[in-house]
Amino acid sequence: MAHRTLFLLPGDGIGPEAMNEVRKLITYMNDELGAGFETDEGMVGGCAYDAHGAAISEADMEKATAADAVLFGAVGGPKWDSVPYDVRPEAGLLRLRKDLELFANLRPAICYPALAKSSSLKPEVVEGLDILIIRELTGGVYFGEPKEIIDLGNGQKRAIDTQVYDTYEIERIAGVAFDLARTRNNKVCSMEKRNVMKSGVLWNDVVTAYHKAHHSDVELTHMLADAGGMQLVRWPKQFDVIVTDNLFGDMLSDVAAMLTGSLGMLPSASLGAPDGKTGKRKALYEPVHGSAPDIAGQGKANPIAMIASFAMCLRYSFEMIAEADRLEKAIANVLDKGIRTPDIAEKGAPTVSTVEMGDAILAEF
Ligand code: ATP
Ligand code: MG
Repeated sequence: MAHRTLFLLPGDGIGPEAMNEVRKLITYMNDELGAGFETDEGMVGGCAYDAHGAAISEADMEKATAADAVLFGAVGGPKWDSVPYDVRPEAGLLRLRKDLELFANLRPAICYPALAKSSSLKPEVVEGLDILIIRELTGGVYFGEPKEIIDLGNGQKRAIDTQVYDTYEIERIAGVAFDLARTRNNKVCSMEKRNVMKSGVLWNDVVTAYHKAHHSDVELTHMLADAGGMQLVRWPKQFDVIVTDNLFGDMLSDVAAMLTGSLGMLPSASLGAPDGKTGKRKALYEPVHGSAPDIAGQGKANPIAMIASFAMCLRYSFEMIAEADRLEKAIANVLDKGIRTPDIAEKGAPTVSTVEMGDAILAEF
């Protein structure tokens, strides 16, 4: 039997409720499909702080590092608003990203036909949309040095952030984009601002050279990131895979998210470099939404983002492509049947609970 290790970090708020619905799928796949998942579970975020004064314990960091994949729920909530900065709930996720070197953040924007009406755009613009935004996650202006606020005197201050990218960082994110494009529609659009930024010039040069050397079978286009943002809301279906830096990716993936409706629908994956020996990538899968303290514990959370993140895990960590397709189809079928949690229901329409939504997807799977 296959041997696949999963480390579950449900976290706070609606994280545990959403994770429970994934647990059911894991049990089903083990019992009925012989999937051979071995799961272990840890704590991250506020619950970890309450238990041992850190956003994630060293023991759990070790387990996360050893596992084939990490499934992460959500962290934080008003209860921990005033804990010290270094141990705030979000520090747990940042530590995982940093220690596992998860440099590639994958954010699909899929518009299920049944939900096209609830997009902020016209249904014909988004119906059937299926694009993948790949954001560089460990470099760029969020991490570059110097990074400081200098007191200039006379009541004046100067803030400095520094955008830094090295060739290897651009090559490895481009490599992820081209590899994944091959499993999709074979098209990559690279976005930067080469007209005003040196890092944009290097980004463009490196992506172009890397494409020519290794991936010339994939169609590559370039767009300035501001124009890209405009095109993303004008006609998003022109794109397949978009690859961009940390800052632009942060913004463009949020723009793309709103094309598809509720936060409760959106999965994500963060991948590291392939291991030299096994070729396996470290990986963490999480919903885009946060811990939603306003609805936690009420059975109202939409578990689809967490379940779709598990589908990404099947696809990218275990090459269980047929199973990933089936799970995504199960989600689409449940939506086609009109089954809705409150966040995606039309006003006054009947709704189901978190558990009922999970059950319905499991039944379709
Ligand atoms: P964070 O800073 O952790 O991202 P946030 O407050 O910015 O937190 P969320 O926690 O994602 O964002 O919540 C934003 C809004 O979306 C809330 O009103 C929340 O109830 C709603 N929401 C988020 N996730 C879900 C979900 N899975 N199902 C239903 N509603 C959700
Ligand atoms: Mg937020």
